[in-house]
Amino acid sequence: MVAVLKQGVSKQQVENLCVWFRGQGLDVHISEGQFHTVLGLIGDTSKIDIDLLESLNIIESVKTISEPFKNANRKFHHDDAVIDIGNTKIGGGYFRLIAGPCSVESYDQMLDIARKVKTSGASVLRGGAFKPRTSPYDFQGLHAEGIEILSRVKAITGMPIVTEIMNANHLPLFEDVDLIQVGARNMQNFELLKELGKTNKPILLKRGLSNTLKELLMSAEYIMAGGNEQVILCERGIRTFETYTRNTLDLSAIPMLRELTHLPIIVDPSHATGVARLVKSMAMAAAAAGADGIMIEVHNNPPGALCDGAQSLTPEQFNNVAEKVIRIREVIEQ
Ligand code: PEP
Ligand code: MN
Repeated sequence: MVAVLKQGVSKQQVENLCVWFRGQGLDVHISEGQFHTVLGLIGDTSKIDIDLLESLNIIESVKTISEPFKNANRKFHHDDAVIDIGNTKIGGGYFRLIAGPCSVESYDQMLDIARKVKTSGASVLRGGAFKPRTSPYDFQGLHAEGIEILSRVKAITGMPIVTEIMNANHLPLFEDVDLIQVGARNMQNFELLKELGKTNKPILLKRGLSNTLKELLMSAEYIMAGGNEQVILCERGIRTFETYTRNTLDLSAIPMLRELTHLPIIVDPSHATGVARLVKSMAMAAAAAGADGIMIEVHNNPPGALCDGAQSLTPEQFNNVAEKVIRIREVIEQ
């Protein structure tokens, strides 16, 4: 249930109302917008008398919410969330490009790519240190050494870093990581999500291979219910009957999620298509559809990449895509 308060309600009045709601056994989530304070009531609201609430002179309206996600629900938060990723921001009008290789392979590789993608306009550097691979015999990432390399490159370039976590026990290694990624395969690893809910780091939550938007939002809810409200959602393609592309990019996820949630939404056209030559069109389409950011895999030598070379752009190709995407953003902002 959501209670929208009238304009000009005092802090004391809000506090008194919250005390009363808590007395009814409810958790209260307070969201202060520019004009209205909105109280999200979490718990069993069945005994609350809506008519009584609406008759109070400080309440503008009361809405019941049927969706099971509350913290991630736009109805609780009218304003878009703006999330800090190190020295940069995403969401609420801040559009960001995230770029880098699928996996961290060496210091020289990371530094070379980071410098180039930064020049092209990327503001966050990606690189997997723990890689979820279909085959246990494939390259699994450099693990702690990979994160250390990202850290060193961050110190030189000033770029915030994003890398994937697969096991909550590894959290101490993520101290210097600015944005922690939960990969598609772990979107419903609820124990991992709960642990991330206790951290104060922003989380990049990727949509699972066969998950609905509601399930994606419920996974965001797991993180947020633990107290960490900094969640960025990522559409990265879903599994369909199509085989020419690695996945099928669900572009309609962007406007749909925009209605349902206030959280930033980014798109990963690299994993969505699995084909480097398709990345540009899908990145442009995602920008046109209103994404808050695009994450693209870039490698200095795609044929020699230890992971996902076929979908990786060269830095030069990324430069061209970035230019186009930035121009599209400028057009839709007008
Ligand atoms: C990745 O971004 O490195 C990755 C493994 O992506 P996904 O989890 O979407 O497959
Ligand atoms: Mn990859």
